[in-house]
Amino acid sequence: MSDALADRLAAGGRMTRDEAADLWRRGDDDALRAAAMAVRGRYHRPDEATWLIMAIVNYTNVCVAKCDYCAFYKLPKQEGAYLLSFEQLSERIQGVIDVGATLVGFNGGFHPEVRLTDYATLFERVNARFGHQIETYSLTVAELMYACKVSKTSYLDGARMLGDAGVRWITGGGAEVLDDAFRRRHSPLKYKVEDYYDCQAAILSAGLGSTATMVIGFDESLDERLNHLERLRVFQDSVGGALPSFLCWTYKPWNTELGGAEVSAHEYLRWLALSRAFLDNIPHVRTSVLTRNEGALRGLAWGADDFDLPCEDEVTQKAGATISLDFEALLDVARAEGFRPIHRGPWPVRATG
Ligand code: SF4
Repeated sequence: MSDALADRLAAGGRMTRDEAADLWRRGDDDALRAAAMAVRGRYHRPDEATWLIMAIVNYTNVCVAKCDYCAFYKLPKQEGAYLLSFEQLSERIQGVIDVGATLVGFNGGFHPEVRLTDYATLFERVNARFGHQIETYSLTVAELMYACKVSKTSYLDGARMLGDAGVRWITGGGAEVLDDAFRRRHSPLKYKVEDYYDCQAAILSAGLGSTATMVIGFDESLDERLNHLERLRVFQDSVGGALPSFLCWTYKPWNTELGGAEVSAHEYLRWLALSRAFLDNIPHVRTSVLTRNEGALRGLAWGADDFDLPCEDEVTQKAGATISLDFEALLDVARAEGFRPIHRGPWPVRATG
């Protein structure tokens, strides 16, 4: 890292895209970590990290998007396709509450027969039964986009309908790499990048919260990855910093049409650091225990400040992720890295509407 960039980051300034590309290509690990920790230090104490226990409960595996990197989906009439009833979903939710989850995300796929009104009814019932025990993330931006499409409803009206049913968060999941060339190669039926951000802006203006995510390790180029970060930073500026967090995880190649190999732990840590340094307008950078297991906790020294201890996620488990319920052992890893793990509650919703 050049002295000029180090001084600028220390003074609260911003890294350019060219500097990010240069740091990625030529910067050694110390330089990447220094850049990341300089930006992390604007928001967080250097020796603290926050955590909670989270589950992703999949309400359906039916999806017509057919992304080639996905090991989870089934087509509507395919053997093994399911759509959980409210009672079945409740059983799963109770199961993860019993092991300590305080945050539960509901993710599925692009189900052609489920309408926005069905989601609104479902989440209203879920919140009535479990809202006093857990915070919920209901759907991702990508799922909402599709639900609005099949319901012939605008993104804003769709988000408002869910908000009226008590939904508080629609996360920035389903983003993978937000670059149109990447999307054409691997998931042409899912969405276009412009459309994704239109929907996320609508979610925020409807008074709901959202988050930012990224997945690396497919066949994306550095340019495509930087397009993702750059566009996200511009979006976050445009919504006044409404997204509280950025979570990056890694593609799991097992049982997918795309196949390939998983990125190394070292590359993940380097990308986490670069993301932390570049996304200077997002307060929290989260490291992914779900896809990197205890190795993710090394990410706290590479710019991350928050993590969840996962207890269920069928999507990544089908593609090769493994989950440990020995939460205390995982927290000990964070302590051994020099961090005081602090259990946290849900973050407040920051919307633009
Ligand atoms: S990644 Fe999501 S949208 Fe793509 S096929 Fe899988 S479930 Fe469907």
